[in-house]
Amino acid sequence: MSSKESPETGPRPVSGKEEGGKTIRIYVMGRAYEVPEGLTILKALEYAGFRLTRGVGCRGGFCGACAVMYRMPGEYKLRTALACQTLARDGMHLVFIPYAPMKKPRYDIEKLRPDAGSVIAIFPEVTRCLACNACTKACPQGLQVMDAIQAIIRGDIAAAANLAFDCIGCGLCSIRCPAEIRHVYVFQLVRRLYGKYMLPKAKHVEERIKEIEAGKYDEEMEKLMKLSLEELKRLYMSRDIEKA
Ligand code: SF4
Ligand code: SF4
Repeated sequence: MSSKESPETGPRPVSGKEEGGKTIRIYVMGRAYEVPEGLTILKALEYAGFRLTRGVGCRGGFCGACAVMYRMPGEYKLRTALACQTLARDGMHLVFIPYAPMKKPRYDIEKLRPDAGSVIAIFPEVTRCLACNACTKACPQGLQVMDAIQAIIRGDIAAAANLAFDCIGCGLCSIRCPAEIRHVYVFQLVRRLYGKYMLPKAKHVEERIKEIEAGKYDEEMEKLMKLSLEELKRLYMSRDIEKA
């Protein structure tokens, strides 16, 4: 999140009253802001004048960019949430966690096997899991994060991949993890291993790849490449959309 102040207004420590509705007071990195009741944390911050250039993405709970930590008055518990999915509440003290620094591994998936050894060779920290469950409690997706890590240790890559299927990569579990496990990357790897080595091959995809390689769509692609931006937009808007 950028707290850069806009040239005209800047963040508004006291605001909201002009709307005439009920307001609540939230604290962002220790500073108080008055905002209308009923907004998500993300909208409350924008209402307060923050320009969100980092720590915001899809606004729909899928991209994992708007992770926050907060504490309610009188509570010992440090809570985690996605700002776009969580209502701002009166007295909330919060801080944005737009990014959890962690080293990105490099590996060649062709040289790996779907087993514990392959994962642990790249992520040795997995074996340090204390089974404290702090990761599960931190997960805004409600995933059984600890169980996924334990499944890897047991060598059950399919279970780990399925348990971590809905991970959105927010990094909140890693921030709480005393074993300093890089869950986002660990889960990415187990899903890749599962998809590559354990799931049945998707025949229709293989066939489509062959068609592409044989040049079946080259002419159509060339036509598309020559269209203007406006023409592309029109084409996109008039496309057939699969019924839900
Ligand atoms: S498993 Fe971790 S990184 Fe993935 S969504 Fe849950 S808290 Fe975020
Ligand atoms: S927070 Fe870390 S150490 Fe604790 S259960 Fe989760 S993965 Fe294991």
